[in-house]
Amino acid sequence: MIFSPKTKNADLQVILDSAKVRDREDVYRKDPVLQQLIDDFHGKCYLCEDEAVGINIEHFEPHKDVKEKKYDWNNLFYSCGHCNNVKLAQFWPLLNCTSAEDHVWESVEIALDQSEFVPVLIITPHPISGKELECQNTCQLLEKSLNGKDAKPIKKQGAKVLRMRIQRTIVDLTKAIICGDFVKVEEMQSNSAPFAGIVRWCLKTNWPDLLKQQVA
Ligand SMILES: [Zn+2]
Repeated sequence: MIFSPKTKNADLQVILDSAKVRDREDVYRKDPVLQQLIDDFHGKCYLCEDEAVGINIEHFEPHKDVKEKKYDWNNLFYSCGHCNNVKLAQFWPLLNCTSAEDHVWESVEIALDQSEFVPVLIITPHPISGKELECQNTCQLLEKSLNGKDAKPIKKQGAKVLRMRIQRTIVDLTKAIICGDFVKVEEMQSNSAPFAGIVRWCLKTNWPDLLKQQVA
C-alpha cells in the first residue's frame, strides 16, 4: 500500500449529496466521480496495488446503509473485485492510504518469499503511527487478500494469481537493476506503477541506494 491523497473537490460532494437524496448509488460508478477516483488512485486497487480490471468502488469504512457514509467522497475508494470481496465489512478500523498521518507504506512491510514454489508474501506490521489496531487489521486483510489466508478456495486462487503477478514484477525489477536500467527502476516505484509499495520495500531491503526517498 502507498499513500494516495484524494483530491479535495467540493463539487464532487455536491453531486454525491444530490444523489444521496434518492439513494442513487450509480452516481459513484460513473463520471465525474469515477474519473476522479481513477486519477487519485492511479487506476490501481488501493489494497493490492494491481491495476484494477474488475473495478469496484468501495466504501473504506463500511457504510451499513448509513447514507452519510455511503455518499461521502472521502469514504469512496477504488479497488479490484478480489480485494473488495475479501474485505466486505469484516475489517475495521484500517490504516487509511489517503491520510499522510497513517504512514501506510512504512506501517506495512511486504516482502516476497521466493524460496517457496508458489511465492508467499511476508507481511510485517510496523505501527509507527501509533495506530496498532488499524495496522493489525490492515495486515490481516492483506494476509487474506494476498496470501489467501483463511480464505475460501476461490479467493485463495485469486490470491495466488496476484502473487504470481507480484513475483513477475520483482523479477522485472531485478532484471532492470542487473541491466543498469535505472529509468525503469524509477518508473517501477512511481505512484502509478503496479505493486509500487512492494517494489519500494524490495529496494529498501536489497538496494536502498535505488529507493527514491521522495516517493517513500
Ligand atoms: Zn486488489
